[in-house]
Amino acid sequence: MVRFSIITINIGRTMLPKLKKMRFFSVKIIAKIKLSHSFTRITFQGENVKNMLTYAPDQWIKLSIPDANGFAPKITNQEQYNAMDKNTRPPMRTYTIRHIRRELNEVDIDFVLHGDEGPASAWAIKAKIGDEIQMRAHCHSIIKKPAGCRWLPPEEANEFLLIADETAVPAAIGILEQLSHYKDPPKVTAYFEVPHQDDCLETPNWPELNLNWQVRNEGSHDYNRLLINAAEKFNLPQNNRFYVWLAGETTAIRHIRLYLAEDKKLNNEKITFAGYWKLGQAI
Ligand SMILES: Cc1cc2nc3c(=O)[nH]c(=O)nc-3n(C[C@H](O)[C@H](O)[C@H](O)COP(=O)(O)OP(=O)(O)OC[C@H]3O[C@@H](n4cnc5c(N)ncnc54)[C@H](O)[C@@H]3O)c2cc1C
Repeated sequence: MVRFSIITINIGRTMLPKLKKMRFFSVKIIAKIKLSHSFTRITFQGENVKNMLTYAPDQWIKLSIPDANGFAPKITNQEQYNAMDKNTRPPMRTYTIRHIRRELNEVDIDFVLHGDEGPASAWAIKAKIGDEIQMRAHCHSIIKKPAGCRWLPPEEANEFLLIADETAVPAAIGILEQLSHYKDPPKVTAYFEVPHQDDCLETPNWPELNLNWQVRNEGSHDYNRLLINAAEKFNLPQNNRFYVWLAGETTAIRHIRLYLAEDKKLNNEKITFAGYWKLGQAI
């Protein structure tokens, strides 16, 4: 059996590149479309896209964000990046693969443009066709264990609660798309919080899907409050095959997870969660 510690095996001083799952490579912008008030889709193309792996609809990648002049030093591997001066190396930010078309070497990412106080959002606002950026992604390797995603529900799960703010909406819609293709699409309750009515994007629909868009008051910075309220009103089903996926602002997601696990006594194994950003802090 292949053990995952194999990633640390060296032959002499050379690590076999095929063992490495995470790779850095350049991609170029080939399209940029405004989807709604807050979401902009950027399509990237690069010859390494065909090697990227997607284990789940919430599969994430990292982008090495260029400076205001569009410059970023080339990164070849994580060790090199870690060794760079923390104050001057390019910031890395995490995004979700919304679509991938390996046959065309194309990948779509839906960016929330939240202003220019963060380097990634500032870059995405200004980005134009032809601009290049480095991506770090999970790629083909002999290591087969899923990585870079959280949506890995047990096979027997047949009822779901999905909670997402705008940063996690691209992943959450991907999850709905996946569930909609099940032979019998399952019972799902979903709460998605967004800044603007116009951000209630198109999703698949089926009779057992109860999707609730929660639109914040215009300009409100009370992030994820609507999601907390919704979670606290949600009647937990008495179903052993129930599964929860939560993602959004870190403090709010922690609050909801603790509420479900401690107040509602939902087994931790039935909850998967991820803080996608932290209010007032760069992560
Ligand atoms: C697994 C994963 C998947 C993700 N997928 C996506 C995705 O597909 N699309 C997407 O848009 N984001 C996604 N995110 C969230 C994104 O990485 C963060 O929003 C990130 O902080 C943006 O970087 P930045 O450089 O713009 O801001 P930062 O430098 O990280 O932060 C600067 C300031 O902006 C604030 N800030 C950060 N994000 C927001 C926001 N959305 N709204 C308001 N204020 C904010 C911070 O609190 C901080 O005060 C994902 C995060 C994770 C962990």
